[in-house]
Amino acid sequence: MTRIVVVGAGMAGMACARGLQRRGLRPILIAPPQAAHNRGETLSSRARPFLEALGWLPLLDDATTLSCEGRYSIWGNATLRRDDTQGEAESGWHIDRRKLEARMMETLDADGIERVSGTVRTVTRMRHGASLDLADGARHEADFVIDCSGRASVSAGDANLMRLDKLVACYAIATLDDDAEVAAATLVEAVADGWWYMSALPGRRVLVGFFTDSDLLSSGLRRDPARWAQMASETLAVSQRVTSLGIDLARSSLQFAASSTVTATRIVEPRVIRAGDAASALDPLAANGLATALWSGTQAADSVAELIAGNGAVAARYEQSYLQGIAAHLAAQRSLYASERRFRTLPFWQRRNGIEPSHA
Ligand SMILES: Cc1cc2nc3c(=O)[nH]c(=O)nc-3n(C[C@H](O)[C@H](O)[C@H](O)COP(=O)(O)OP(=O)(O)OC[C@H]3O[C@@H](n4cnc5c(N)ncnc54)[C@H](O)[C@@H]3O)c2cc1C
Repeated sequence: MTRIVVVGAGMAGMACARGLQRRGLRPILIAPPQAAHNRGETLSSRARPFLEALGWLPLLDDATTLSCEGRYSIWGNATLRRDDTQGEAESGWHIDRRKLEARMMETLDADGIERVSGTVRTVTRMRHGASLDLADGARHEADFVIDCSGRASVSAGDANLMRLDKLVACYAIATLDDDAEVAAATLVEAVADGWWYMSALPGRRVLVGFFTDSDLLSSGLRRDPARWAQMASETLAVSQRVTSLGIDLARSSLQFAASSTVTATRIVEPRVIRAGDAASALDPLAANGLATALWSGTQAADSVAELIAGNGAVAARYEQSYLQGIAAHLAAQRSLYASERRFRTLPFWQRRNGIEPSHA
């Protein structure tokens, strides 16, 4: 039996493992034991066909999701407006990612997935496969490795990754009182040093986040939520929504997450294929990373299944459409940032408008 190792058990890794199982293959899934973080993510409705194909649509219920009622923004001028750019019938779902991913894992377990708990340190390509060295000293050999290790992109190595910015998210999740009226819509607001983001989570929770470049983040903010609350109070719509929901940001527990745009220069190499953020981690502003993780996980599974059958065309097509998708995404991202001209002379916006060279 061909030995296929999937590294990482986020949405890309699990979609990939499920895709392989459904093609009669028996992958080994290697990932550390910790559960996913909840980051108030919105799962775009573009994910629907991939969820359907994987038999995962029934996992979207009241415990794991909340229907998203659209996106509002203050961007380009000081007026709050509803974004209808995607023109889609539904905007997707606010998810409790921790619960949703736990449910996905249950389906893999029910189909007898072989799991190894561990962190891969290196992936070394060999003539007829690859070897993986784990942090605990264990070594695994594989005919094919599908790297779904997220931003770690363990198989790529720094030399094969292009880092395009230093975006970082600083966020807190608040649980609302019973009488607070939760708006299940996303709110984005551009400010001088970046942008704010508010989003609902199932279970009467709301995420409030600020995205900026790591070097523009005030030092000491990590230990100073009062300062962060002060920054939020200087916004237009976010401050209003925070106040109306009765959220006390000054008492919140701040968390940080790397959110920079990093893409691998190759998606498909002999014996090693990348999917999800391991292939390309894009700016969360587009809220498309999860749908891309599901799409690319299943595409990587198909690619390997076809390579085993002696057909390399599917893998080649996968890489080509991924690279085209990244180029289209980056172009759309540039024009979205360029449409905000109020702050164009300030570093965060200058960098995204190409005035200042890449500072990775
Ligand atoms: C703050 C923030 C907000 C976001 N908001 C949205 C949003 O609203 N909508 C949206 O669609 N996307 C959003 N994204 C992007 C989205 O979270 C990612 O695109 C998505 O999680 C990628 O899934 P993945 O499976 O590729 O990677 P991950 O979810 O990062 O999973 C990686 C997996 O690999 C494992 N792993 C890591 N290193 C190793 C290793 N060395 N060995 C073995 N296993 C390893 C991890 O434990 C994990 O299981 C956001 C991202 C951030 C940071």
